Amino acid sequence: MSIKENIHKITTSLPTNVTLVIVTKTHPVEKLMEVYQTGNHIFGENKVQEMCDKYEQLPKNIEWHLIGHLQTNKVKFIAPFVSLIHSIDSLKLLQEINKQAIKNNRIINCLLQVYIAKEETKFGLDFNEAENLLRSDALKELHNIKITGLMGMATNTDNEKQIELEFLSLKQFFEKQKQLETTNIKLETLSMGMSSDYLLAIKSGSNLIRVGSSIFGKRI
Ligand SMILES: *Cc1c(COP(=O)(O)O)cnc(C)c1O
Repeated sequence: MSIKENIHKITTSLPTNVTLVIVTKTHPVEKLMEVYQTGNHIFGENKVQEMCDKYEQLPKNIEWHLIGHLQTNKVKFIAPFVSLIHSIDSLKLLQEINKQAIKNNRIINCLLQVYIAKEETKFGLDFNEAENLLRSDALKELHNIKITGLMGMATNTDNEKQIELEFLSLKQFFEKQKQLETTNIKLETLSMGMSSDYLLAIKSGSNLIRVGSSIFGKRI
């Protein structure tokens, strides 16, 4: 099936409260233009350099989401245009994003990445660290960032029960932390689910899914 057909198949089956981020990493701008022409304008990239290169070449009404690990020294490159950063894993990173957001005279929306998988390779905060960060005094000082939700990745396994339990654990944490609303925290977005597990993620309460290979085919 074509990119267009794949996107159509996914979007027509999504509940209305669920947003699709199309994960465009590794694909050339011609393919991204093909996606753009379907009217879907939310793109996810995991590398700063690649996202900046594509931003330069593509229409300016695309919403760019950074979904991969972000180093503090690279924040300045995406600060002028990024619309959501999914991968916050430290206060230090938020402080740098705040600093660059001030320079660009804007507020940058961020999700805390919470570690829910039973794998060594995934980045993120554990539940305790995320809770402490949300309640820290240092966060209150950061007027040019906004924490709008949480992101999580399940273990890469065929065990659907395990994946579902991991997603549900984050959904439960999200519901609990939602009560905490401050000038720069308002938890509305729960980013969970990729090609292999987005149906389970939605069933478990996700409202933002990040899908690549189901649309473009396997990345090589
Ligand atoms: C690559 C990636 C995705 C998309 O994965 P697919 O399996 O291609 O849908 C989603 N989230 C993150 C953080 C990724 O790095």
